[in-house]
Amino acid sequence: MSSEPTTANASATGKKQPVVCVFCGASAGTSPIHLAAARSLAEALHAQNIQLVYGGGTFGVMGEVAKTLVSLSGPDSVHGIIPQPLVAFEQGADPASSASTIDESMFGRTTVVKDMHTRKRMMAREVIDGGPGGGFVALSGGYGTLEELMEVTTWNQLGIHSMPVIVFNVDGYWDGLISWVNNAVKSGFISENNKGIMVEATSADEVMVKLREYKNVEGKFKLTWDQE
Ligand code: AMP
Repeated sequence: MSSEPTTANASATGKKQPVVCVFCGASAGTSPIHLAAARSLAEALHAQNIQLVYGGGTFGVMGEVAKTLVSLSGPDSVHGIIPQPLVAFEQGADPASSASTIDESMFGRTTVVKDMHTRKRMMAREVIDGGPGGGFVALSGGYGTLEELMEVTTWNQLGIHSMPVIVFNVDGYWDGLISWVNNAVKSGFISENNKGIMVEATSADEVMVKLREYKNVEGKFKLTWDQE
């Protein structure tokens, strides 16, 4: 277990591997289709030899995607990054203890960080450093998932990164979000160019295709981390 931020994603051969950051619910949802989608995404990541960075939780859609990929590609393929205050809530640790008790052989390497912003920056850094083939993928989730998805979308809009942002729309779960984007473009609050920052996929295989074929949108600002 590491409490120091690291961003290494080298394979056993020392060669860098693409990294996908998955945002998704700490809950499982009421339909088994959401956990099934998490497993299918993990299988697709395994098939493409892609590493996963995620929020480090052991429950819900988060836990499902992590443990499925670990079972296929091994613990080194998954890096969970969790803020200290969430260890008790999202890993089921003893609230009286500050330590993470996660089973890394089941959920992958875990890094405990001081706060939410450190987690998000570290996750994004790993995706960027992993290079082509990687990106951000949102599975089904709640407020936290939406907030994380919007943050990497706005970081893309600001030119802080140019990695793909894919919305895995499981059984129409994100239809409302996609319709909101279309309305915001129509109403002049999102430019036609920036409409393409978030890309929809409806299956794990399509997520992989969209990650590969992602086109960076033109005409963005070119801000850096310090200016966000
Ligand atoms: P949820 O989608 O609400 O189940 O949350 C999924 C993940 O999003 C959890 O690991 C939360 O820690 C994380 N998250 C990220 N940013 C936030 C935020 N601002 N508020 C709440 N949860 C957040």
